[in-house]
Amino acid sequence: MKKSELLKQAEDMKDWLVDVRRDFHQHPELSTKEFRTHDKIIEHLTELGIEYEANVADTGVVGIIHGTKEGKTVALRGDIDALPITEKNDVSYKSKNEGVMHACGHDAHTTIVLGAAKYLQEHRDQFAGTVKLFFQPAEETIGGAKRMIEAGVMENPKVDAVFGLHVDTFIPTGQIGVRYGQMNASTDTVTLTIKGTNAHGAYPQNGVDSIVVASHVVQALQTIVSRNVDPRDSAVVTLGVIEGGTQSNIIAKEVKITGTVRTLSNETRELVLKRIEDILAHTTKTFGADYTFELDPYGYIALANTDEIVDIVKDSAVNVLGKENVFEVEQASLGGEDFSFFAEAAPSAFFRLGARNEEKGIIHGGHTENFNIDEDALPVGVAMQIQNVLTFLND
Ligand SMILES: [Zn+2]
Ligand SMILES: [Zn+2]
Repeated sequence: MKKSELLKQAEDMKDWLVDVRRDFHQHPELSTKEFRTHDKIIEHLTELGIEYEANVADTGVVGIIHGTKEGKTVALRGDIDALPITEKNDVSYKSKNEGVMHACGHDAHTTIVLGAAKYLQEHRDQFAGTVKLFFQPAEETIGGAKRMIEAGVMENPKVDAVFGLHVDTFIPTGQIGVRYGQMNASTDTVTLTIKGTNAHGAYPQNGVDSIVVASHVVQALQTIVSRNVDPRDSAVVTLGVIEGGTQSNIIAKEVKITGTVRTLSNETRELVLKRIEDILAHTTKTFGADYTFELDPYGYIALANTDEIVDIVKDSAVNVLGKENVFEVEQASLGGEDFSFFAEAAPSAFFRLGARNEEKGIIHGGHTENFNIDEDALPVGVAMQIQNVLTFLND
C-alpha cells in the first residue's frame, strides 16, 4: 500500500492516539453523563493550546482552530458517549466502569477528532479559515447533535460543512466506505394506547374490548409498508411490545403498543408516522374505542450526505489510502445516527472507517460485549479528517 505523507505523519502520533483512546475506553460514560470525558477533552485541548467552549448542550465541547488566513469554516464531529453493556474483552484497557462500555467506538471518534486537531493546530499556516471541533454527547439516546445545534454551534462563525465518520468492524482497516445520498435511517419510537371499556368477560356486550381493537390495529399497520410506501423505497414498522389486560375473564380496558419506525427519507418518515396515527384513530373509532398516540421527541431524522462533500471524502481517501482501498457502500443502513441533524444544517458527509482485523480477532459488531476496534485505524481516521479539512478550506 502506498502511504501518503499525511498518513505517515498521522502514524507518527499513533502512540499518543492509542493512549488517548485507551483512556477514554477505560472510562466510558453513558449518554448525558459524559462528565469525565468532557473534562478530559478540555484537558487535551488546553494542552494543545486550542480554544474551546465548555458545557455545550451540557456535556459537549466545541474547540476552535483558526488558520492563518480568513476563509470558510468546517467542523469535525466526534461523538463521545458509551453504552450500558458490560465489557467482555480481556484487554489491559478494559472498561473500569462496570456495566458501561465504549461498544460503538465513540472513544475512537473522540480520539480521531483530537488527533486531527493536534495536527491542524500545529499547521495553522496550511489552511485558510476556521476549524470547529464538535465533541458531541448523547448520540446513543436523545440526539446530542440536535441539542448542540440548538445551542448555536453552527453559527459564529457559520459552519459551511461538517465531516463525520464511524468506525466499522465489517470493513478491514485501511479501507474507507463512502456513500452518496441516503446513509442512515430515521428512527422514531411510537406508543399507541387503545382505550376500551372494562366489563365482565362473560358479558362482552357491556364493554369495548381493547384487545380485539388492538389486534385490528396491529394488522392494519402492516399495510403501511406494503401498501403506502413506494416499493422502491424502504421503511420498517416494528411493534416490539404489546401489553394489556389483567385476567382471563375480564374485558381489557387498555392495550399499549410500542414500536420503532425506520425510514430512509424524511418524506417517507412523515408519511409513515401520519399513517400510523390515521390507522389508529380510525380503527379505534370503528370499534368505539379511544386512543392516544405518542411520538417520542428524541427521534432522529434520516441521514443524507451531500454529493460535493462526499466527493471530497472520496478524494481524501484515494489520496490517503489509494483508490483500491476506497469503495461505495451499496446500501444505506436502517440504523440511526444523529449526525443527520448536522447534515440537515449544513452540507455534510458521514463515512465509514474500516477497523476490522481478523488476525487480531477484531471481528465483533457494534453494541456487543466483545466489540473492539483495530487501533491501526486511528491514524487512518486522523489523516482522513485532516485531508478533508485541508481540501475543503483551501479549495
Ligand atoms: Zn451506537
Ligand atoms: Zn455510534
